[in-house]
Amino acid sequence: MTRARPVVAIDGPVGAGKSTVARALARALGFAYVNTGAMYRAVAIAARAAGIDPDGAGREAELTRLLERIEIRFDGDRIALDGRDVSAAIGDPAIGDLASRLSTIAAVRARMRELQRAAGRDGGVVMEGRDIGTAIFPDAEVKFFLTADVNVRAARRHAELAAQGATITLAAVRDQLIERDRRDRERTLAPLRPADDAIEIDSTGHGVAEVVARMRARIDQLARAR
Ligand code: C5P
Repeated sequence: MTRARPVVAIDGPVGAGKSTVARALARALGFAYVNTGAMYRAVAIAARAAGIDPDGAGREAELTRLLERIEIRFDGDRIALDGRDVSAAIGDPAIGDLASRLSTIAAVRARMRELQRAAGRDGGVVMEGRDIGTAIFPDAEVKFFLTADVNVRAARRHAELAAQGATITLAAVRDQLIERDRRDRERTLAPLRPADDAIEIDSTGHGVAEVVARMRARIDQLARAR
């Protein structure tokens, strides 16, 4: 399929700087920005409110019913669940952990795939997550896999949480991050991994502007080649 404007996929582990970079890149290109992690987190908020046990025997059926009933709307940095803005609530580390557990379940991934493909169908979008280049848009025109040293990622995530008023130690943040990445990498469905044609960028020691400039250079190069 040919789109007038590209789909830019940015995947990578926790704290690699995907959101900051994706947001800045989308702004620079005049593209829409979609944070797919926020969508999984919104599902986690709904599942918690509905009292669904992520390890329970009936989880797949319960989640299927839940996903039929809830409405998730997203627009740049804002995400709403059934008309309620949950953009702040999704930052809770416990919600991140629950999102990661729920993201192993087929019914959840199928619904997210549907919403994400619809959002990116016409291109002109920067979409970040774990499986955008591998499963959601394997035909994305541009794919990046963003990584950074684990200690740098933990420090970034810790600073983010501290800014939100959380009182969690750096060591605890690092442990949670390692555990969430392990779960995301080892799951059977759409595991976290770079697509074969993704450009890997290690952001350790590089500022946001520098990473965004590298990505823009690559996008410009591809646009000239088209
Ligand atoms: O990106 P963020 O940390 O907010 O994502 C929360 C969780 O949602 C991830 O740990 C991962 O398990 C899941 N996720 C996913 N696929 C995506 C985006 C997020 O499985 N495309």
